[in-house]
Amino acid sequence: MLNIKKASLWAAGVASALTLISTTIAQQPRAVDAKVLVTAGTAKDAMPGTWLTYGLSQNEQRYSQLKQIDATNVGKMGLAWAAPLTAPGGRGGTEGTPLMWNNTIYQTMDNSIVYALDARTGQQKWMYDAKIDPMTARHMCCGTHNRGLAISEGKLILASNDARLIALDAVSGKELWQSKVAEISEYYSFTIAPRIAGDNVVVGVGGGEYYIRGFFAAYSLKDGKLAWKFHTVPPAPGKPFEDKAQEEAAKTWTGDWAKYGGGGSVWDGLVYDPELNLVIAGTGNPEPWPLELRGLSQENWLKYPNLYTNSIVAVDAKTGKYKWHYQTVPSDGWDLDGIGGFIMADVQIEGKTRKVIMQAPKSGVFYIVDRTNGQFISAEPFVPINWATGFDKKNNGRPIINPDAFYDQNKVVVIYPGGGGAHNWAPMSYNPNAGLVYLPYTAGTYNFVAAAEPNVNAGGGAHGLGQAGQKPRTTPMPIWGPTQEQVGRGGLQARDPKTNTIKWVKQGRGGNIGGGTMTTASNLVFQVASNQNTLYAYKADTGEELLALPYNLPGGAPPITYMIDNVQYIGFATGTQFLSMKVGGTAAMPLPPAGNAKGKGAPKGAAPPPPPPPPVDELHGNTKQ
Ligand code: CA
Repeated sequence: MLNIKKASLWAAGVASALTLISTTIAQQPRAVDAKVLVTAGTAKDAMPGTWLTYGLSQNEQRYSQLKQIDATNVGKMGLAWAAPLTAPGGRGGTEGTPLMWNNTIYQTMDNSIVYALDARTGQQKWMYDAKIDPMTARHMCCGTHNRGLAISEGKLILASNDARLIALDAVSGKELWQSKVAEISEYYSFTIAPRIAGDNVVVGVGGGEYYIRGFFAAYSLKDGKLAWKFHTVPPAPGKPFEDKAQEEAAKTWTGDWAKYGGGGSVWDGLVYDPELNLVIAGTGNPEPWPLELRGLSQENWLKYPNLYTNSIVAVDAKTGKYKWHYQTVPSDGWDLDGIGGFIMADVQIEGKTRKVIMQAPKSGVFYIVDRTNGQFISAEPFVPINWATGFDKKNNGRPIINPDAFYDQNKVVVIYPGGGGAHNWAPMSYNPNAGLVYLPYTAGTYNFVAAAEPNVNAGGGAHGLGQAGQKPRTTPMPIWGPTQEQVGRGGLQARDPKTNTIKWVKQGRGGNIGGGTMTTASNLVFQVASNQNTLYAYKADTGEELLALPYNLPGGAPPITYMIDNVQYIGFATGTQFLSMKVGGTAAMPLPPAGNAKGKGAPKGAAPPPPPPPPVDELHGNTKQ
């Protein structure tokens, strides 16, 4: 027979023990570690409601399990809170995807500044300034941007613009260690969000428009010591090879390339696959751009594809040793960096489940590759292109360069897409239920390209080739891909990776840079369209528009979603404020907070949505790195 009194006492004892435990947890929040990160964003999420890595999950699908906000209530979303992002030194720009852990939003801004904000109220917990030298911007092609942080073992990792890795205590914001990865004076820089790979943090360098020799590398989370480094271009002729992969790469270069460094930066796409023990990076253009200066022509490009530039490169996550590569643009002379975030997924293709990696880089082509071995699956233009005429399936899908795309001192060509690329850093997302990838893009841009002296000197400035205004002296090349009617000048397209085709398009929404997307288990896609300063929500499967919320502030960075106290929020940074929204939030977009002088220009209350402006002119795009 149950003794009621004893049972009550027992229950009271358990209750007080639980109180004690929960108090302890509140003081020392459970740290993120490699095991937690494997579950992040998945159905088995060890910390549901958080956002712990750049792409939410390690497969970087930006697919949230949260479903409280759905088609029935998303139209009632409004502002929950707004927080100023106006640190001295911050220039009011951002490309950063925030993290959310321990009820805290971590947002990076330009000039290597980090904010920690209370995710319920927006109150600032702390701010960290890496205090980069003001000259740093002079050593970067395209601005002192930053795309986000990594978190693990109680540390936040910042890749500062001046090529340092900095570990901060995730609770207090205090600096724990710094590691100098490369020299900013030699034009190495960071804009990338680092990724955690087990006990290491992995990062890749920017600077591919200068003399750099590109690489990505892993550093110990514990103390910031180098674990391994993979060079994306070989050493200069005569210098020793680091390993066999470098020796193989050296055979694919000719001419005077080494005088200019090689390029092959790794400034955006980077993933860790714990199951396959791979780190996979996307690499940028070879340097210098002009084909002639690298000894390349229509006759020899097949022999000299300039590995491992413009490639998807996989290495062993523990050792950094080469595993496989797929080159998205061989012998690139058009600045079509193989850059742009990856998405990994299991996709049914021709009756088989394939472990794929997907990328839509600047070249305007949507590539699908088997990530277990680098085997080509498919590639299709997602905007009109003319640099390639097809993909050679007999040679693992090697792009077939249009013979008319080659140029020299006497020949100018017009290349689609332009130098900013058809898709740049704006994050894609993938909804496994809808089976669709959401891709922000810009279409119809082009570059005049001609041989010229490279301009990669210390002054920065132009990147070599752009001869805008020069009349082409070639027969116009046929353009391949979707029609202008289908894709307009840019927007958001949903692609089905099973067939690598367009499912639906929203013209004018967003573009190759700015904003980006994420998607949820409640069949929604969210997009910050920074060209319209509007947050959109669509049905993930059909594209039906459910929300268009103008936010009346400059800029717009990738959105995340998170849940605290059973309330789901959508949050993103603008150039001047972080905005967090929820169902039932105030209808009007934020007034500038009191005392925030920089917010003065923001209009009061909600304004009608602006007419769709033309997409950003990317003739000489502003984020090519
Ligand atoms: Ca580039």
